[in-house]
Amino acid sequence: MSTIHEHDVIVVGAGGAGLRAAIAADEAGADAALVTKLHPVRSHTGAAEGGINAALHDEDSVESHAYDTMKGSDYLGDAPAIEVLCEDAPEEVMRLEHWGMPFSREEDGTVSQRPFGGLSYPRTTYAGAETGHHLLHTLYQQVVKRGIQVYDEWYVTRLAVTDEPDPRDRTCEGVVAYDVQSGEIAGFHARSGVVLATGGLGQVFDHTTNAVSCTGDGQAMAYRAGVPLEDMEFVQFHPTTLPSTGVLISEAVRGEGGILYNEDGERFMFEHGYAGEWGEVASRDVVSRAELTEVQEGRGIEDEYVHLDMRHLGEDRILDRLENILHLAADFEGVDALQGPMPVKPGQHYQMGGIETDENGATCVEGLYAAGECACVSVHGANRLGGNALPELFVMGKRAGQAAAGVDLGEARIETGRAGDEETDEVDAPVPLGAVDAPAIEGDAAADGGAVTETEGVLERAVQAEREWIEHLLEKDTGVQQAELRAELQEAMTEYVNVFRNEDGIKRALEVIRRVRERYQDVYVADPSRTFNTDLQQTLEMRNIIDCAEAIAVSALVRTEFRGAHWRQEHQERTDDDWLKHTMISWDDGDPTLWYRPVILEGDRKTYEPKERSY
Ligand SMILES: Cc1cc2nc3c(=O)[nH]c(=O)nc-3n(C[C@H](O)[C@H](O)[C@H](O)COP(=O)(O)OP(=O)(O)OC[C@H]3O[C@@H](n4cnc5c(N)ncnc54)[C@H](O)[C@@H]3O)c2cc1C
Repeated sequence: MSTIHEHDVIVVGAGGAGLRAAIAADEAGADAALVTKLHPVRSHTGAAEGGINAALHDEDSVESHAYDTMKGSDYLGDAPAIEVLCEDAPEEVMRLEHWGMPFSREEDGTVSQRPFGGLSYPRTTYAGAETGHHLLHTLYQQVVKRGIQVYDEWYVTRLAVTDEPDPRDRTCEGVVAYDVQSGEIAGFHARSGVVLATGGLGQVFDHTTNAVSCTGDGQAMAYRAGVPLEDMEFVQFHPTTLPSTGVLISEAVRGEGGILYNEDGERFMFEHGYAGEWGEVASRDVVSRAELTEVQEGRGIEDEYVHLDMRHLGEDRILDRLENILHLAADFEGVDALQGPMPVKPGQHYQMGGIETDENGATCVEGLYAAGECACVSVHGANRLGGNALPELFVMGKRAGQAAAGVDLGEARIETGRAGDEETDEVDAPVPLGAVDAPAIEGDAAADGGAVTETEGVLERAVQAEREWIEHLLEKDTGVQQAELRAELQEAMTEYVNVFRNEDGIKRALEVIRRVRERYQDVYVADPSRTFNTDLQQTLEMRNIIDCAEAIAVSALVRTEFRGAHWRQEHQERTDDDWLKHTMISWDDGDPTLWYRPVILEGDRKTYEPKERSY
């Protein structure tokens, strides 16, 4: 018999979304536990710099925040989710303040707010340029104070989900996790619910602002267990990352007045008319394309990047509001940003798509919830506005935690799962998609790492299947190593499924993904140790990266329009008649199916009429 830990609510991941979900479940009276592959305060939320959007002032409004978010989403966000986000964000920000979050302030002591791209009012609250760091510590203190159990350095490898033919009839019993410190594999039984809060998937690309831990684990595990992935083609590329490392230079620099220049010293956002009067504070997709156009048309610096200059803001203001940026530029690019401009170029930053949920965080599988960057509720649609991810962590993290604890949040307006009468699509892929023949060693859950048969003993058998798979990886002494596969896949995704995309390129990426998936059948782990075996962990992560990459490329191939972050060379128009719908992909036991769900533009406050997004 395996060790089985038992709690009411198991939250997988302890970034902003996971911590907030665990606190909410605890407040609802549940015995909640966090299971996380990193210590909570090492979660990637700690890297967030710029701030948190919330309509706090009388001159601002929930309606205005919701309108900006819908417009920024290029009308692919769902109104019920957007309205919940904007309505609940102010209360959540004030709660953080009461919990001790050290927000930056004005002279009169009120919390400061600054402008961010695509916002019609300066509604981004912040703590210097280290907002995420303070946020994680504030939330973690609340977790410690409440005595919520944290299993840190436990890597969740699989969901224990029943195996009914229709995913909407399945139930999530818990998760299987691997103790990074000891090598033990154990089950975690959730009496009430599991919340996935595992963050982003930046490691699908080789130039990213995301940490090495952002490998799309939650997305891939949920997908293989039968939960659809939604709008995966919408990947945000941030316009200001340092060229040599991908480290982010926050949008706060442009929000505070930072200026972009090309090699000719032109302020190209204005001089080449990329975004009208918005200039540098246009939304991220627009600025990223502008920068790459400058480079492609020969006005880039060293044919690679442009300059971001903040010297004119003055040393006092920079030290007060952007000090962290000085350290990042110096440490990671060797540039003194008080003396010269910083080199910047676009890099993968955020995944708008993810695990399909309703506005209560529920997936179509009973007992399985998701929140934060791994989820798609969908508030960001085709393009996320800067400062809108962090409020989503609290608003949706809280709701998912409550729902998992059994709190009745009322009936959701967003549907989940596939009823069978939705529009489907054939993918004109150059290679087969989905599972290669299931490797015998992985058992029935296999090629998929997802669901197992019969309800009774689901968790025990999931632990068993995972143990056999890990033993196999450790005992095998020849084959291919994950690092080689990871590099090949990341390069292909960055080359072909980046800011600019076309059909040929995406198909080439799919060929590489297929080759990598086939070679993964022969993967082995060179390091046989049971403690802190990073090679083993990265090998397990690699299968998630493969599934996420394929879902992104397939979704990018079928969406034959240009919307938000998804630019298609052959399809330069946003075509609302055909494409006001979410791209959904279901694993279907290893044989992926593409289908669509209409966007919901009718909110409780108003119906959002699609307009041209001209900034
Ligand atoms: C550099 C940077 C700056 C940003 N700045 C801003 C900003 O200013 N404003 C804004 O709104 N947004 C910002 N964002 C976006 C925002 O910070 C992220 O979307 C958000 O923090 C993600 O939070 P999360 O809780 O979903 O995931 P994370 O904080 O990434 O946490 C994921 C958690 O899941 C755990 N985990 C993952 N996989 C497993 C597994 N298999 N088993 C167990 N545990 C697992 C990890 O240990 C971690 O605890 C920024 C993003 C980046 C990269």
